[in-house]
This record gives sequence, structure tokens and C-alpha cells, in this order.
Amino acid sequence: MNFHILTLFPEMFEGVLGESMLGRAREKGILSFNLYNIRDWAGNKHNRVDDAPYGGGRGMVMQAPPVFDAYTAACEKCDAKPHVIHMSPKGDVFTQEKAIELSKKSDILIICGHYEGIDQRVLDEIVDEEISIGDYVLTGGEIPAMTVIDAVSRMIDGVLSNEESFTDESHFGGLLEYPQYTRPFEFHGVEVPAVLTSGNHAEIAKWRHQQSLDITQAKRPDMYEKYRELHKEEFEPKKKKRRKKIDA
Ligand code: SAM
Repeated sequence: MNFHILTLFPEMFEGVLGESMLGRAREKGILSFNLYNIRDWAGNKHNRVDDAPYGGGRGMVMQAPPVFDAYTAACEKCDAKPHVIHMSPKGDVFTQEKAIELSKKSDILIICGHYEGIDQRVLDEIVDEEISIGDYVLTGGEIPAMTVIDAVSRMIDGVLSNEESFTDESHFGGLLEYPQYTRPFEFHGVEVPAVLTSGNHAEIAKWRHQQSLDITQAKRPDMYEKYRELHKEEFEPKKKKRRKKIDA
């Protein structure tokens, strides 16, 4: 997977993309990150890429030409047309399902806005979808872009190590994750739940699943109802098996 990021602040990405899971995946050649500083396409000696909004009002708006030219330069590095995402508080709210869907793409180009946003005309021309990371407004699209890159990357084969798995994690199967414990066995007088040290894997799996159900029901009733709807058979009372009468 190749990520292409259009931003006014490429240095913000350096630490995040070079460390931990993303750094390892980059070294293994599973992921590549190509950063484009939109200012490099400003086309004026002051490197200005913003101007006052038509119609008046507060703040500045990022101009269409440098965004378009940076996009064109990035596309030249892709084998096929990349999937273009504009990070925006007006977009659809990002979910695990969206992360899974995006992990199947080969090239993703992310546009990070700043100030009051980007001239609508260039967005209408090049953007495939707008994604928001939540119902609040941040200063720029860089942190939202890093959020999307991280969540998408960990869904790609080979990015997580063998010990790490996402299939049990919150949101993957429609439930929140069960509570986790590690040594010491006792902390501030509280012991680890006995079942986890029983060695009975079937019982552990059953306990964890029940915990997931309880936590999801308490914290996210919307998710719980959706899960129940999709897994009706799990909540149906178990039918008792009838014993066949054997004729004497
Ligand atoms: N004036 C815009 C509005 O009210 O919709 C907000 C602009 S915001 C200050 C600057 C940039 O931050 C946006 O262009 C977008 O790229 C990014 N941004 C802010 N909040 C975001 C969010 N919740 N999700 C994704 N991107 C966001």
C-alpha cells in the first residue's frame, strides 16, 4: 500500500510514520509514505497558498491551483489513479469497517486542509470521498490523516507481528474488547479473574466473549443492538436435545 499525503506541514508526520508498527512496515516494504508539501506548488515568491474567502468572513482559504498541482505531481508517482480522500469535519465519520475497506486499495492519496479549508472547486474535481475522524473541529487535517493511516495500515497483511492480532479487538467483530490483565497476579488487593489462570481455553474464550457482550451493552448499546440483530442465533434459548425412545 502506498500512501501519498498532501499537506502544508510534512514534518508533523515524521515521528509517527517512522516509529513502531508503521516504521517496521515501512522498513519491510509493506507500506510507503510519500509526503508532498503543497507550498512547493505555490507558484509565487512568498510561497503563499491561501487567500481571503470570496463573500467575506473570517480566516483564509487554501487556494485550488497549488492543491491541484501537488495532486498532479503525486499522481505521476502512482501506477494507477489513487483513491483520493479529503480529511474534513464534513465527511463521513471514520469507522473500523471503512479502515478494512481502504486497506484493500493500492494507492491512497490524502489531502490535509488547514485554515478555513480548501477551495471547493478543486475538491469537487479530484476527491473520491471525505472522511471525518469525529464531530469536532481540529486545526488541520494532519492528525486526522495520521489516524486514518494508522487504522488502515494495521488491517494490511504483514503489518502487525504474529503476536499482535486485530480480530479480537474492539470494533472488529462488532463488539468492544474484553478486559486485559497481566502480571502481577495481585494488584492493590485485586486478583486477576480466576478463569484466566485456569488453563481451560474453552472457558477463557467463553468468559471473554461474555465480557465483550456485557461491556458493549453497557458502553455502546447501539453497537450491542446491531450485534444482536446480526447474531440472532446466539441469543436464542438453546433447544434441549430429545432422547430417542428405544423400543424394548
Ligand atoms: N471551516 C471548516 C469547517 O467548519 O468545516 C473547518 C476547517 S479546520 C479548522 C481545518 C482543516 O482541518 C480542515 O480543512 C480539515 O482538513 C481538518 N479537520 C478539522 N477537523 C477535522 C475532523 N474532525 N476530521 C477530519 N479533518 C478535520
